[in-house]
Amino acid sequence: MVSDIINANDLKKMDPVFGQVSFDNHEQIVFCNDKDTGLKAIIGIHNTVLGPALGGTRMWQYNNEWEALNDVLRLSRGMTFKSAITGLNLGGGKAVIIGDAKTQKTPELMKRFGEFVHSLSGRYITAEDVGMETADMDLVREVTPYVTGISESKGGAGNPSPITAYGVFMGMKAAAKYKFGSEILEDRTVLVQGIGHVGESLVEHLTNEGAKVIITDINQERLQEVSQKYDASIYTGNDLFSEEVDIYAPCALGATINDDTINKLKAKVIAGAANNQLAIEEKHGAILQERGIVYAPDFLINAGGIINVYAELEGYDKKEIMRKTENIYNTTLEILSNAETNKITTNRAALNIAQSRIENRKKENSK
Ligand code: NAD
Repeated sequence: MVSDIINANDLKKMDPVFGQVSFDNHEQIVFCNDKDTGLKAIIGIHNTVLGPALGGTRMWQYNNEWEALNDVLRLSRGMTFKSAITGLNLGGGKAVIIGDAKTQKTPELMKRFGEFVHSLSGRYITAEDVGMETADMDLVREVTPYVTGISESKGGAGNPSPITAYGVFMGMKAAAKYKFGSEILEDRTVLVQGIGHVGESLVEHLTNEGAKVIITDINQERLQEVSQKYDASIYTGNDLFSEEVDIYAPCALGATINDDTINKLKAKVIAGAANNQLAIEEKHGAILQERGIVYAPDFLINAGGIINVYAELEGYDKKEIMRKTENIYNTTLEILSNAETNKITTNRAALNIAQSRIENRKKENSK
């Protein structure tokens, strides 16, 4: 899916790093290699104006290194804007480990990765993302303090995914209010793509509210498990983008809204947890707008997780985490109205606010 953005042959034609289409004046890109553990990772630090670059580590079997680089460039940039719009004093960073999390992730590899994180002296702080568990962050913690999302028993805030899901649920409700005139999701049909840590928790919120939930995943075991637990239907068709649903919630990987899918989409609202849902932000954001599909910007509504891990650094409590996460509802409504008033895409409206916060801080810092 990551390769949907641009194909590998085109990526190879560009200059290897600074010439990549997803390169956006990133401050630092670190390639990490360790023969003994088999670690091959890339850490991307996009921007540190607001604070240290915080963002999760993704372990994924990329088709090639270009895809991994492209992913870390896009993901780390997204983190900059996520923290900025959420009002956190954090910059944007992310890491990818190339490999299969099921078969190639070992404690030694995670600790070696932690040592690379440590060598950056806190410019980058890691956390979990796809392919990672809280236990992996606990291993990283053994070699560096620059990690969040560690177990509550070890003084951390635990797995951020349920909070991310709650924030997505809030953002989805706001988008529903905007599109349908009511935030109540009872009887609304919601297609959740990817029922991992965040997706499952989102399914729980949705079924509790009486939404009609359809789930899809590449992992058949998870599908059976989640379907039985929450009485959700498993998608059985062969083109989920053409499915008549009220809401599409991308909760797997990015770039699912792309040239191939965008014109088929029948959903009226898009609100999900996946990072970088729009393959090409301006282009695909504009097409959604023309088609009257309300897009709740991913980096705005999936910020619950970063709010949760930030609590570990700032020491605020669960009540404050929930208050900040619930506020995603208000911010989403504001952004959707702002986009309409200013005749810009919802993604652009959110980016403008995030970018102006960074610019203002830059000016203050240079005084
Ligand atoms: P996860 O690894 O627990 O779950 C991802 C799920 O997506 C897995 O079940 C996987 O099988 C499935 N999947 C992968 N490719 C798929 C495809 N083509 N079609 C359908 N399903 C597919 O990851 P997660 O922590 O739940 O994160 C999900 C998304 O949300 C990611 O994009 C992540 O970057 C983003 N996100 C997560 C958090 C968090 O707190 N975990 C915070 C912000 C954003």
